[in-house]
Amino acid sequence: MSGKVLHHRTPEFEKILREAWSGLQQVFATAQPVQIIAGSGSAAMEAAVVNLLSAGDEALVVVSGKFGERWAEMAERYGVRVTRWSIPWGKKLDLSEFERQLRLIPNCKAVFSQVCETSTATIHPVKEMSEIVRKNSQALFAVDAISAIGCAMLEMDKWGIDCVVAGSQKAFMIPAGLSFIAFSERAWEAQAKSNLPKFYFDMALEKKANTQRFETHFSTPVPLVTGLRQVLAQMQKVGLDKVRLRSEALAIATREGGELLGLKVFSETPSPSVTALITPTDSGSLREILELDHGITVMGGQDQQKGKILRIGHMGDIQDEDLLAFFEALSEILEKKDIFPQIKAKILPQLQAAPVLFPR
Ligand SMILES: *Cc1c(COP(=O)(O)O)cnc(C)c1O
Repeated sequence: MSGKVLHHRTPEFEKILREAWSGLQQVFATAQPVQIIAGSGSAAMEAAVVNLLSAGDEALVVVSGKFGERWAEMAERYGVRVTRWSIPWGKKLDLSEFERQLRLIPNCKAVFSQVCETSTATIHPVKEMSEIVRKNSQALFAVDAISAIGCAMLEMDKWGIDCVVAGSQKAFMIPAGLSFIAFSERAWEAQAKSNLPKFYFDMALEKKANTQRFETHFSTPVPLVTGLRQVLAQMQKVGLDKVRLRSEALAIATREGGELLGLKVFSETPSPSVTALITPTDSGSLREILELDHGITVMGGQDQQKGKILRIGHMGDIQDEDLLAFFEALSEILEKKDIFPQIKAKILPQLQAAPVLFPR
């Protein structure tokens, strides 16, 4: 990424871009083209809304945390008639209730959900949700997989998902600035009819530029795409199943380490990409000590969970030592230093057994 910045409309860069596109198709598990948008993850979320729907359409949004709320707000801003299905934060998504909610909207045009709701570190059963959407409605099923793809199993085509969005700064391990979006055939049909305002996010123009000229419609952030190509090549080399296994191993280790320290897992269906632990004291000050005294950055809770949970990200290039350093620091801060050797003995063998993405 720190190398020479190529011009984005050159044969040299076209090769990189084509490799990035095809790597993304593998991670998304789709034969459909994946579009790259210059913008953070929310850009692809907005692109999903404005390309799939028309003014006055009805949509069901699963709101299980902050990011679900973002999707509901976005759609409302564009004049979509949104029904929020609000689930208490961290609770297991009830599939029969999901089906019931969907049936209450006979004319539902689209269902939006997160795969992993990052604000609560909760994973949702999108494969089963997709089946329910297909069986009970004509609606398109769009998922925000930003904090799930590359960590949790996700097969866009096989599971019949109509739209998947992702972003560069989570499991793809590069800085924020790129987001990715793919549409099913049904979704492209809806795209052609959609009348919501769009200019930068017109995915038909993007697809045309990609497939006819092998370039992006607008200027490309060349270093980010170059980094993406590198990460995708490494993921392919290691194998996607092993990449996911690594996140899962880190997730299990994080939950077990937390348990030994007496910290409960917040979510009923915890994610392989991020873990939320309930803290006995203000998580904001714990987070600050971790950062200032130990150089370890984790996140606190947002909104209603502010001060109550710590969120530990373990997607992408997290090494065994990173997680151990976190638990060593946390045991010290919680005045349970004597527990750290137990944690280490318990989680280290599992971590060492999980394949590393970028060996040092
Ligand atoms: C990070 C994230 C986003 C995107 O946020 P941006 O700041 O726009 O990149 C959206 N949804 C989920 C679930 C996320 O974790």
